[in-house]
Amino acid sequence: MACTAESVADAVRAAAAVVASHRDELVALDRAIGDGDHGENLNRGFTAVVAALDEGTPDTPAAVLKLVASTLISKVGGAAGPLYGTAFLRASAVVKDAAELGPAEVVAALEAALGGVVARGKAEVGDKTMVDALSPAVEAARSADSVSELLTAAAEAARAGAESTEPLVARKGRASYLGERSAGHVDPGARSTALILGSFAAGPVR
Ligand code: ADP
Ligand code: MG
Ligand code: MG
Repeated sequence: MACTAESVADAVRAAAAVVASHRDELVALDRAIGDGDHGENLNRGFTAVVAALDEGTPDTPAAVLKLVASTLISKVGGAAGPLYGTAFLRASAVVKDAAELGPAEVVAALEAALGGVVARGKAEVGDKTMVDALSPAVEAARSADSVSELLTAAAEAARAGAESTEPLVARKGRASYLGERSAGHVDPGARSTALILGSFAAGPVR
């Protein structure tokens, strides 16, 4: 089964639910090495996304992804709002007007999302950002055959990638102001990326 607009919307609702249930965890991670607002920012954004989807599901996967992008850009703020917004916007652009997304389109969407985050934030793997979760996720997704398998592989790689940020010293974003003191904590944006990809894998998108 491929992903229709409806199943992409369901995946996004699953992401909103996971962001809500991990809000406090993300706040705590960002309090350790940032300003403590990451869980709040993302939860506000995804709550607005669900409200927008409740008005009606857009016709195509691309239109759903574009709605997510514009809502996150306008509601999340901080560093993460434009970064996640760009990720969803680039994913939307690359899948064009396809009615359903198969494995090739989902991989292309993930690659485009990563490209957008890197173009905007200029972070590399190892800089202790969301790129440390998203980049291995894209790599893992490429080697799977079905949408279900590739989302599972991406989620697992993102989870491990987020954990790998713990010992790192941040080189981008607010956490980089702490220098060596940023080591010893998981990056909040890497964790939220792993949570969101995990929700896509667990959700009804097959
Ligand atoms: P802010 O730091 O403005 O308060 P958030 O707390 O919402 O924004 O988001 C912080 C997260 O954004 C970080 O944990 C990191 O993963 C991500 N981030 C920050 N700067 C960059 C960047 N240049 N490239 C990629 N990700 C970044
Ligand atoms: Mg913050
Ligand atoms: Mg902030």
